[in-house]
Amino acid sequence: MRIIMGWTVRCEDSMEKKIKKIGVLASGGDAPGMNAAIRGVTLAAARAGISTVGILEGYEGLLHSRFLPLSVEDVSGVIDRGGTFLRTARSPEFATPEGVRKAAENAEKAELDAVVVIGGDGSFRGALDLSAAGVPVIGIPGTIDNDIGCTEYTIGFDTAMNTAMEAVDRIRDTAYSHERCSIVEVMGRRAGYIAYYTAIACGADIMLLPEDTLDFDRDVIAPLRAARDAGKREFLIVAAEGADGLDVLPEKIERDFGVKPTYSVLGYIQRGGSPTLRDRTMASLMGERAIACLLRGDEDRIIAVRNGEICALPIQEALAMKKELSASAIRAGKNLSCQ
Ligand code: ADP
Repeated sequence: MRIIMGWTVRCEDSMEKKIKKIGVLASGGDAPGMNAAIRGVTLAAARAGISTVGILEGYEGLLHSRFLPLSVEDVSGVIDRGGTFLRTARSPEFATPEGVRKAAENAEKAELDAVVVIGGDGSFRGALDLSAAGVPVIGIPGTIDNDIGCTEYTIGFDTAMNTAMEAVDRIRDTAYSHERCSIVEVMGRRAGYIAYYTAIACGADIMLLPEDTLDFDRDVIAPLRAARDAGKREFLIVAAEGADGLDVLPEKIERDFGVKPTYSVLGYIQRGGSPTLRDRTMASLMGERAIACLLRGDEDRIIAVRNGEICALPIQEALAMKKELSASAIRAGKNLSCQ
């Protein structure tokens, strides 16, 4: 008991000594739900008596001291807005030793006791550099691609998948009227999570993923022919942008399957829009967890979801973690398609 009380007192002492003001920034690609995370950080910090400063345009803003103090009122009305009101940026200058040093100096000048970084893998590598330069950091995973190794979930992923699903549904509606093959390309250069889940949710006939190597005749044309022989008249292919051979896919389908396909690239439509319930709640709770970590004295952590639970991992350990769609998950998805 005394030990626990002693720990509590130490923890509160260190909070009073160490954490008075924090910075929060969004970095890399924007994702719906980043605003909810900024709000979660600001509200949880305010509740603990910590003031929050928004850093504009990611690490660029830290390099040029572009700060925006955030009160509880300032983050009212942002939870349902896509993008990030702090704006985000990529900063080549920050990714140099000189840039990191300058950013750390500016954080110190602004009396920031810690910086919360909302972004992807690249942003977390930057956060690690910043922590090595003496600025405590907490990372919150924000990217529509869900391609961060340490976490099952990233902010923006759910909204992007739902946007893609609705768009594919619309494209498929018109395909019902003709014998048609619709190819829909969704985002995902290195990871096919959006394509995988959208393909399942839309009942796609073929899914094309960067994780997969295909024999075109065996894995695409033969299943399409078999489906047509069984009476199917419209065909849907959902492809991640990083899947192999997309540049020649339409001509191959036309030549070998005898149907001229339509090809739709969903592109940036998937990045925008009001975040879904899942993105809003996960982002808010991750923001809250970031502050809880700092209050406990747990610096240099990445907030992650593992086994469905929000947790905090040491940043170096988190960055070394890998994940990918497993072969069995891909097989299960394909068992629901024609492949
Ligand atoms: P994301 O965070 O979405 O993966 P980027 O890879 O574009 O996006 O990274 C965002 C920013 O993080 C970069 O512009 C750069 O300032 C910083 N960054 C990226 N990679 C590194 C790295 N290896 N070391 C230090 N900083 C990095």
